[in-house]
This record gives sequence, structure tokens and C-alpha cells, in this order.
Amino acid sequence: MASARKVLVVGCGIAGGSLATLLGRGGVEVEIAERNPDFTALGSGITLQGAALRVLREVGVWDDLRKDGYEFNSLGLRSANGRLLAEIPDVRTGGPDLPATLGAYRPRLAELLSNAAVEAGATTRLGVTLESLEADEDGVDVRFSDGDSGRYDLVVAADGVRSRTRRAIGIEDTPTPVGMGIWRIHAPRPPEVERTDLIYDGPCFIAGYCPTGPETLYAYLVEPAQDRSKDSPEQRLQAMRELAEAYHGPWDAIRENITDPSRINYSLFEYLLVDGPWNRGRVVVIGDAAHACPPTLALGAALALEDASVLAEMLLAGDQLDQSLFDSFQQRRLGRVQPVLEGSMQLVNWQLAHERNADVPGLMRRISSLVSVPA
Ligand SMILES: Cc1cc2nc3c(=O)[nH]c(=O)nc-3n(C[C@H](O)[C@H](O)[C@H](O)COP(=O)(O)OP(=O)(O)OC[C@H]3O[C@@H](n4cnc5c(N)ncnc54)[C@H](O)[C@@H]3O)c2cc1C
Repeated sequence: MASARKVLVVGCGIAGGSLATLLGRGGVEVEIAERNPDFTALGSGITLQGAALRVLREVGVWDDLRKDGYEFNSLGLRSANGRLLAEIPDVRTGGPDLPATLGAYRPRLAELLSNAAVEAGATTRLGVTLESLEADEDGVDVRFSDGDSGRYDLVVAADGVRSRTRRAIGIEDTPTPVGMGIWRIHAPRPPEVERTDLIYDGPCFIAGYCPTGPETLYAYLVEPAQDRSKDSPEQRLQAMRELAEAYHGPWDAIRENITDPSRINYSLFEYLLVDGPWNRGRVVVIGDAAHACPPTLALGAALALEDASVLAEMLLAGDQLDQSLFDSFQQRRLGRVQPVLEGSMQLVNWQLAHERNADVPGLMRRISSLVSVPA
């Protein structure tokens, strides 16, 4: 029998939706509290590597996700003028029967995960957050923002990098900006874009794109971090278009579609690794709420998914729900999370220092072989 009979998952993102599905399917009574009222809002794309796809297949959403997404197995390097410098075969980190990479539209992934959780029996409270939680030895009492309340054997905080649940249980760690900001747009795919191509010259640290479906891609430009919070939508549009002017080849077509400010997103790259235990009694943080890295290796989703898979496996194995379970979970995950976070930060630091002789292929090879082994 599972070690927790009734679990509250806070946040139905990549980690939360997957965990709720795996636990629900294992016979656990699961409730989800998700701040967003729905999953149809405009969003950007995401680059999912084999290691992430392996868990998405375990969760049961792979077949549907691949229908709408875009699979590819190599990475292109281009110069700012558009010339293709190299095409490098990508490691299939999820195993030979999964592609190296799938580009996907984030809201579609969110929708598939929340549907899977509901099909597995989870109850969802949408548009709801936690007002308070009080843990004792046997469980956690929770009050929700809609006035309702409940008692759970376990609360899992999967509410992202700015987790309010993390703060509510007294974990003080907060994300740190790393000095880079990223512009992203979801736009039509020019026919010649059939994989991710990265450009490391021009005014940006990185200019890149990733197809997210037969008709779509997301394109991104990484610049020195700036406070863009006071910029008007028109100023944002202008700023992204100006940076894109320096890039050619497929970027000429992409730039033509940088026209709608509501489709543009700007975020800062951040780093977080909760120092000390990831739990306080029967409340545990997973995914970005516990660890987050700049997406220079595009493995944040894989780490969040693996957290969900490993925690579900441990809970369903019926291990005693005490500190030793949380300690084993964290130890098992740190062996994976720490090197990926360090590798992501190493890439950031090399770029910030304009390091020309960095062994980027060596770092990529080391991390790829690490995440090729199932978590
Ligand atoms: C700019 C950028 C680009 C990235 N690109 C990639 C990429 O290409 N590939 C990749 O693998 N990773 C990428 N990442 C990292 C990846 O997005 C995260 O690692 C991943 O989303 C973490 O999943 P999560 O479920 O822990 O958190 P999230 O996906 O952030 O989900 C958290 C969920 O909790 C909900 N929530 C938040 N607060 C509350 C609350 N108080 N109450 C209830 N619900 C709440 C949110 O609405 C959301 O549904 C990127 C990150 C950034 C910042």
C-alpha cells in the first residue's frame, strides 16, 4: 500500500501534473490546487530532451504530445549572417526509441498533463491557491483561497521557482538572477526550420529557435539582463525586433512575424538550489520550487519530471512516510540535479566572460551521458 493515502499537489505544471497522474494511477487520492483558472492562455514553446520525454511517456502523454510537437535529432550552429557552420547529431538521452528532442507548445503540454491527472482520478481546484497550512506528525491541514479546507497525509509543493508554499513552510531560499534575460516569441515556422539552430555571435549571447509543430516555432534572443518591467508593450516589441535585425537566414522570416506585443515574453535567467532539506515535516518541494537553472542545457523540465517520477515511485513502494523517505528522495535527486545545475551555470559564466576556448562539447557530452541513465 502507498505510504500516503491522500495527497495535495500544489501547482499543476510539469512536475505537479505528472506527479498527480502517477500517484492517482497508483490508487492514491490526489487533489491539485492550481493558481491558473485554465490552460489556454498564450504561451511560449519548450525544448524537451529525451530524458524528459522518457518520463512523459511513463506519465502517458507522449503519444498525444508527439502528434502536435516537432521531433528532431540534431543541433545546428549558424553564424549571425545565417550561414550553417555545423550540424551536430544529438544524443538520444531518453533511449533509442525516443527522439533526441521534441519541440512543444507549453500550453498544450500543460493541458495534456492536467487531463492525464484528471483521468487518473485527481480532483482539481483551478484558480485556487493556499491561504495557510499547518503540519503535525500525521498530516497537514490546509485552507484554500476559495474558503474551502482539507487535511492531507502529504502536501507536495510543485508551484514553481517562486513557490509560495516553499516560503510558507519556512524555506528561505529564493532564486538569484544570473545576469541574462531572454526574449521569446511563438510564431509561424519557416519551412527551412527543421531543428534547433543556435547562433553565438551578434549582439546577443544566444539567438536560437526550436520548431514546436508543423506550423509553429519559438524563437529566442538572450541578452544581458535588464529591468524591462516598465517597458510598454510597444517598447518590448521594438527591443526584440531591433535585436533580431542582426540575424539572418531563417531569422529574416522569423523577424517578419515579430509584430504582436502580446506574443512576446521577456524573462530573466535564474538559479535556485534549496540548501538543506527539501521538506518541512510532511510538506515537500519538488521541481523548480526546489531547484531551477538557466535553460542553457534545456533540462529543467527533465529534472522536474524526474522528481515527480522518483517521488511517485518511493511513495507507491510504501516506504515509511517519515524523514528518511524525504532524505532518500533528496539524496537520489541531488546526484542528478547538482551536476545539471552546475553545467547550466558553467555555460552562463563562460558566455558572460566571452570565453572562447571553453570545452562546451565536452560539458554537453558529460551531461548527456549522465541524464541518459533513467533517474
Ligand atoms: C525562459 C525559460 C525558458 C526555459 N526553457 C526550457 C526548455 O526549453 N526546456 C526545459 O527543459 N526547461 C526549460 N525551462 C525550465 C522549465 O520551464 C522548468 O524547469 C519547468 O517548467 C519546471 O516545472 P515545474 O512544474 O517545477 O514548475 P512550473 O512549470 O513553473 O509549474 C508551476 C505550476 O504551479 C502553478 N502555481 C504557481 N504558484 C502557485 C500557487 N501559489 N498556488 C497554486 N499553483 C501555483 C503555476 O501556475 C504552474 O502551473 C525554461 C525556463 C525559463 C525561465
